[in-house]
Amino acid sequence: MFYYDSGVWRSDALSSSRVGHAFSTRLGGVSALPHTASMNVGFGRGDGDDVVRRNMEILCLAAGLDFKGLIGSPQHHTALVRYVTEDDRGEGITKDNLSPSDGFVTDRPGVSVIVRTADCTPILITGEKPDGSPVVGAAHAGWRGTVNLIAANLVEAVLSLGVLRETLAAAVGPCIGPCHFEVKDDFIGEVASLRGEDFVRRHTARRDGIIFADTRSMNVEILEESGVSRGRIDVSAECTACRPDLYHSHRMTGGVRGTMGNVIGIKGDLG
Ligand SMILES: [Zn+2]
Repeated sequence: MFYYDSGVWRSDALSSSRVGHAFSTRLGGVSALPHTASMNVGFGRGDGDDVVRRNMEILCLAAGLDFKGLIGSPQHHTALVRYVTEDDRGEGITKDNLSPSDGFVTDRPGVSVIVRTADCTPILITGEKPDGSPVVGAAHAGWRGTVNLIAANLVEAVLSLGVLRETLAAAVGPCIGPCHFEVKDDFIGEVASLRGEDFVRRHTARRDGIIFADTRSMNVEILEESGVSRGRIDVSAECTACRPDLYHSHRMTGGVRGTMGNVIGIKGDLG
C-alpha cells in the first residue's frame, strides 16, 4: 500500500530498516517559480541549480538517505540500467554523468539513486542477498522505456547481484493514468511491433474514438514476468494529470513544468 506523508509517497512493499525511499510530489521543496513550485528536482527547468540540489537534499532527508551519496542521470527514454557504487556518487547531481541511463541498481551502503518523472512511470525495487544485505534499484519508465522492457532490465540487474528471487519487491509510483494517457495510432503501431497485438489489447482502451494506454499495468505485467511475485508489487493509483495541485504533469502543462524525484538507497556510511 502507498501512504502519503508531508509531500511524499512511500510504499510499505519497500519498507525496511536498511533501505530508504520516497516518491516526491510537487510539494515540500524550495522552488518558487509558478511552474516549478515547490518541489522540482529537474535541472534546466527554470530553477537555479542550487535550488534543484536543495530540493533533492530535502527529498533525501525525507527518505532517510544521505544526499552526498546520491546519483542521478540525464534520462533519454532508454531501457539502460546501470550498476553504481560510492565511486559514482554525485554524478548527475553535483557533477556530470558521462554514462547516462534511465535506471540504476546498487548494493552499496550509503549510495542512493534518483529517477525523475513528470507523467512517466517511476519504479523502485528492493531485494535481499542470501546474507540478508539489501539491493535497491530505480527506473524511469516512459512508454518507450516501458515497451523496451526497462522494468525487466531492472529486475535482471538486481538478480545479477545475487538477490534471492522471492525477496524481490517493487513499487510503481504516481504517473499519468489510463484516464489521461491519450495515444495515437503511431504509438499503437510501435508498441504492437515490439510487444505484439495482445499486449496492446491488454493495456489500451478506446473511449469515444480516443485510445488511452496504461503504462502502469504494462510495467506490472513486465515486472511479474521478470520474476517479481504479483503480491509483492505495489501500484499507486495516483494519476499525475488528474492532480495538477499535487503533481508536475508534462502533458497537462505542455512541458512548462517542474519534475518529480523518486529516490531509493541503502542506509549507512559511505566510509
Ligand atoms: Zn488522470
